[in-house]
Order: sequence, then C-alpha cells, then structure tokens
Amino acid sequence: MEFAYDDQNIFAKILRGEIPNDTVFENDHALAFRDIRPQAPVHVLVIPKGPYVSLDHFARDAGADEQAGFFAAVAAVCESQGVEDGFRAISNARGDGVQEVPHFHLHIMGGRPMGPMLAR
Ligand code: 5GP
Repeated sequence: MEFAYDDQNIFAKILRGEIPNDTVFENDHALAFRDIRPQAPVHVLVIPKGPYVSLDHFARDAGADEQAGFFAAVAAVCESQGVEDGFRAISNARGDGVQEVPHFHLHIMGGRPMGPMLAR
C-alpha cells in the first residue's frame, strides 16, 4: 500500500509550531497534547513526529527508535493523566475508520466509564 503524507494537515502544523497546542508530554519522537474537542475528561492525542498517515503506516515504516519513543509517550500520558481506573485508546484510519486528520494519532480517553466500544 502507498501512503501519501500531506504536510499541510493540522497536526503537521502543530508539530512545526504554526498552531498552538496544549502539550501534555513531548520527547524526541512524539508529542502528546489535549484534543481541542474533548469527548471525555481525559482526551489526549499522541502523535509521532515523523510523517506517518495512519497506524498501519507507522507500524510498517517507522523505525524502532520512533516506535519506542511513541510508546514511551503513551506510557507517560497514561502515567500522568490519572487513568488508573482505565482508559480507551483509539486510532481511526482512512474512510471506514472516519479519520479526520491524516497524521497518525492515538486517542487516549478516560476519566469516566467509556461505555460500549462502538455506538450502534
Ligand atoms: P480523528 O477523527 O482523525 O481520529 O480525530 C482527530 C481529532 O483531532 C479530533 O478528535 C479533533 O477534535 C482533533 N483536532 C482537530 N483539530 C485539532 C486542533 O487544531 N488541535 C487539537 N488539539 N485537536 C484537534
């Protein structure tokens, strides 16, 4: 599969500092920031700094250091955001996944019971 990365997407602009964000955690390979339209008391987006469109793109093409840095950021977010009682992690991809922003991101949501996995 070919993945075409659009560097004008909103998260690319956040990474370049062109748009402000509410940063929760940052390391060399990842940035975590609060979702602008939170759907739970905790709603943080974790994104790699590299140009990956979706989870499957990142999983296939990102280097081991990028993947380790990304998951270190996930761990740091979960540790710092008070989700000891649990959380939901979601990554939407492409059309069927209803992905709005074409830069891979993991939603970390918690702070309340998250309900059924999918709305009917
Ligand atoms: P997707 O549907 O692509 O999985 O989710 C994209 C998410 O990005 C949405 O939850 C939306 O609220 C969030 N979002 C879109 N634009 C911005 C922005 O400019 N700043 C932040 N912090 N979040 C955004």
